[in-house]
Amino acid sequence: MGRRTVVVVGAGNAALCAALAAREQGAEVVVLERAPEPARGGNTRFTAGAMRVAYDGVEDLQELMPDLTEAELATTDFGHYPAGDFLDDMARVTQYRTDPELASILVDESHSTLKWMREKGVRFVPIYGRQAFKVEGKFTFWGGLTVEVSGGGPGLVDSLSETARREGIEILYNARATSLVHDEGGVHGVTVRQDGVTRELSADAVVLASGGFQANTEWRARYLGPMWDLAKVRGTSYNTGDGIQMALDAGASPVGNWSGCHAVGWEMNAPEFGDLKVGDHFQKHSYPFGIMVNANGERFVDEGADFRNYTYAKYGRRILEQPGNFAWQVFDQKVLHLLRDEYRIKEVTKVTGRTLEELARKLDGVDAEAFLAHVKEYNEAVRTDVPFNPNVKDGRSTEGLGVDKTNWANTLDEGPFEAYAVTCGITFTFGGLRIDSSARVLDTDMEPIPGLFAAGELVGGLFYFNYPGGTGLTSGSVFGRIAGTTAGV
Ligand SMILES: Cc1cc2nc3c(=O)[nH]c(=O)nc-3n(C[C@H](O)[C@H](O)[C@H](O)COP(=O)(O)OP(=O)(O)OC[C@H]3O[C@@H](n4cnc5c(N)ncnc54)[C@H](O)[C@@H]3O)c2cc1C
Repeated sequence: MGRRTVVVVGAGNAALCAALAAREQGAEVVVLERAPEPARGGNTRFTAGAMRVAYDGVEDLQELMPDLTEAELATTDFGHYPAGDFLDDMARVTQYRTDPELASILVDESHSTLKWMREKGVRFVPIYGRQAFKVEGKFTFWGGLTVEVSGGGPGLVDSLSETARREGIEILYNARATSLVHDEGGVHGVTVRQDGVTRELSADAVVLASGGFQANTEWRARYLGPMWDLAKVRGTSYNTGDGIQMALDAGASPVGNWSGCHAVGWEMNAPEFGDLKVGDHFQKHSYPFGIMVNANGERFVDEGADFRNYTYAKYGRRILEQPGNFAWQVFDQKVLHLLRDEYRIKEVTKVTGRTLEELARKLDGVDAEAFLAHVKEYNEAVRTDVPFNPNVKDGRSTEGLGVDKTNWANTLDEGPFEAYAVTCGITFTFGGLRIDSSARVLDTDMEPIPGLFAAGELVGGLFYFNYPGGTGLTSGSVFGRIAGTTAGV
């Protein structure tokens, strides 16, 4: 008997993990990537490479990052993020909608999967820049997000692609899968169009890992609803729902939050799709330390409801809902040192004012008088008796406002002030294909479709309404590895 052949559709994180896992089982693996090689890597390439992983203590992290130095260990409080906390976060932010079985697999397999990725050449480092602040000489991590890939998203794509090449996996670029070859017996291959030529590629198993439908304007308006056609796409232009459509055509069951997505505050004048030169720096994630106002000069969300990485993924939608689909993030001198690097790029829509009055005049599209009245009211509501601490949910709130701020509320009174204009940037869609615990795609009778597997963004059922930062890559890796392992035997 010849070797089992596995075709993987896509060449992002989920796909490459699936390909490597299938290869480990001895299968012959071909990866089809729609993008030309210079644009390879899908959304994965646009990320900073942050990966959420369960760990009981620093020893678990040392298994992932054996090159942590004595000095780093001595000056850092890595805390812990046990599986129970990860699972609680998945349940809490999805309003208890997440599929319990898939969420448990994601959490329980997170650490072993990252260890496996290390064996496949991926290097991890602590996320000092974004997830820890220095308090009394010690870096302290918060929000359960401690590990990122060295070299970020590009580093992740490069290391996985290089390992794939070394292990004899063929990656075809400019190769768009257009449909599945299937009959009542299941899936037997794919139709692929490469460089203008269409052909059939037969396979014993197909793993779909070709992303969500966020780059498809028509599907966004159709499934996410009115106005979503106006959102900017944060990442690749290639994730237009192809894999989802192909699977539905073969009888797959859709599941999850089809009207929901991950969407953030994103530079107002960013291009339609992501720009690899800028990566994720169009995002503007330091709003917990300032305020966000709309065209009416009013705040509209609790900027300090939780740590940034538990609110950022749902606030893009709130910005889209505002008149004109924009907001201004406003900061005063006291907190400017806390602003993330992404505020210091040149592609920002930024205004400054020595006084609030000067700033108000410059906030394009905003009712200046209403803004000034609103800030006055906000300043008077801040609980200045509670100390400010960016590392914990400090309970420094406002009191008595229509929209209170729960943590990190500071008065806006020390100029010069800075303000940044944002709109909604969509990251990925939540609805997708139904899989079982072996990453087999289920049909509408809830039976596995023989020969068909899925992993990554196009899997539905994990995320609803919101998302704990750094889970997308981990989900792609965990289910990619499972899909490849099952498909490869
Ligand atoms: C700016 C930005 C920052 C992010 N930061 C983080 C982060 O720090 N941590 C985190 O966990 N997540 C982050 N995410 C989310 C993360 O990118 C995704 O969850 C993850 O990369 C999805 O991986 P994937 O393999 O499913 O999809 P992708 O990496 O998007 O791969 C899908 C691939 O399929 C290809 N494809 C599409 N259609 C076809 C077809 N018909 N035939 C062949 N190939 C096809 C695409 O070209 C693409 O290469 C971020 C996303 C963005 C946009």
